[in-house]
Amino acid sequence: MVPHALLIPFPAQGHINPMMQLAWKLVSHGFLLTFLNSDSNHNSILKANAPNSLHDNIRMISVPFEFPVMDTLEGVGNGMDAVEKCMGPSVIDRVIQEINAREEENKLTCIIADAWMSFGLHPLATLHKVPLAVFHTAPVSIFAIHYFITNMVSLGVVSSDGIPKQDQKTKYLPSMPPLRSGDLPWLWGGEYFFRKGTRMAQEIKHIKWILFNSFLEIEAPVVETLSKEVGVYPIGPLIPPEFLHSTASTKVLPSLRKHETECLQWLDKQCTHSVIYISFGSTGIMSEKQVEELALGLDATQRPFLWVVRSDLMKGSEAILPAGFLERVRDRGCIVSWAPQLEVLSHPSLACFVTHCGWNSVQESITMGVPMLCWPYFADQFINRTYVVDVWKLGLPLDANSQGIREKEEFLKGVEILLESEQGLEIREEARKLKGIARDTIKDGGSSWNNFNLFLTAMKRQPN
Ligand code: UDP
Repeated sequence: MVPHALLIPFPAQGHINPMMQLAWKLVSHGFLLTFLNSDSNHNSILKANAPNSLHDNIRMISVPFEFPVMDTLEGVGNGMDAVEKCMGPSVIDRVIQEINAREEENKLTCIIADAWMSFGLHPLATLHKVPLAVFHTAPVSIFAIHYFITNMVSLGVVSSDGIPKQDQKTKYLPSMPPLRSGDLPWLWGGEYFFRKGTRMAQEIKHIKWILFNSFLEIEAPVVETLSKEVGVYPIGPLIPPEFLHSTASTKVLPSLRKHETECLQWLDKQCTHSVIYISFGSTGIMSEKQVEELALGLDATQRPFLWVVRSDLMKGSEAILPAGFLERVRDRGCIVSWAPQLEVLSHPSLACFVTHCGWNSVQESITMGVPMLCWPYFADQFINRTYVVDVWKLGLPLDANSQGIREKEEFLKGVEILLESEQGLEIREEARKLKGIARDTIKDGGSSWNNFNLFLTAMKRQPN
């Protein structure tokens, strides 16, 4: 019997990408996969990617769901609740029954659910007699901070509803670096996210396999501490070998938006290590003033740049660029609405990545050896920034002024230090070193390789 996994990503780009990378890895080890999306994401994937470019052994299926508009915090909370309702256990139960009825020869042998999709799935998996694994697409430290909340309360560093007790940098957990009070991942969204994150961590602590898109070498202290309590298996980076070694692949990692691949030809024409790449992932939003400051900063650097300006980068309208900006930067700027990010980051002309510190972007940047300028917005991005800057020394922070704006001068200063100074040279050297470590960890005998093989062996065992 072929091992057959049902993969359940959270319905957002930053969760679908790593789940799809995991899917490719499993397929290369003989798995048959069924990949569950919401209808709206399923349709976006079909629209943005040629059907014959999708992986043959990954069956894409969907259930009705579309994220409600999420332009307020309350809206985001409602959206999260709606996901739980529309793609929760009763829906997954029906999906499992349908798959098993259709696939007499290839019934499901395991379920792998995103940590934020795992609510109520443990009893369901038991009912269907298949193992359940959970995939946490953010680093181990983020899970740990949700998991160890009661320890943090006992240490007196946060209140019982997650509010930090002091303003200065604090060691919230012994196994983590000191964090700024605003770094705590739930603070941007208030109590709702605090409760939801705590519930997520408590629910999945009973699950034997918690996979992380991270690797031991960058989070050893927190992995060691957490492993005493739950089954922690960092198996990253999950970027498929095709993208690490630039072997032409006829298959794409499906995206919800169409990749504008022409920018790769533009990159081919630029000098080695010259281009600033700017992208704020799938969700980062900017005010008009912020877009203007960044554009002025790019204008002032006089360096080539590739900037992802999504159609929804600015709240409520297309991004408004300063008058004359496009004409002035015509010879050295490339603007796209969505880039093939893995190919961009691995391109030899890249100098640095201005990133919102979404975990996929950070992990991809580490694996490609690109130093970062960190511009976090929300959720786990602030802790990711702290690790990038303070612990791994792979980048510099770009700080906002008292109105929350990153000014042109801050941007210019960051670029100059990173690309011109002695300090920048050290950061670039660290980025080069960590790239090697990241790639070694997935080679035979590496820590992620070992974890993945343990997982694989367990999942290939026949269910009782
Ligand atoms: N991405 C991309 N093209 C872009 C911007 C982002 O393909 O122009 C991909 C990127 O490679 C990453 C994902 O989208 O895999 C974004 O995930 P991340 O965790 O960085 O940020 P999020 O979108 O979740 O905030």
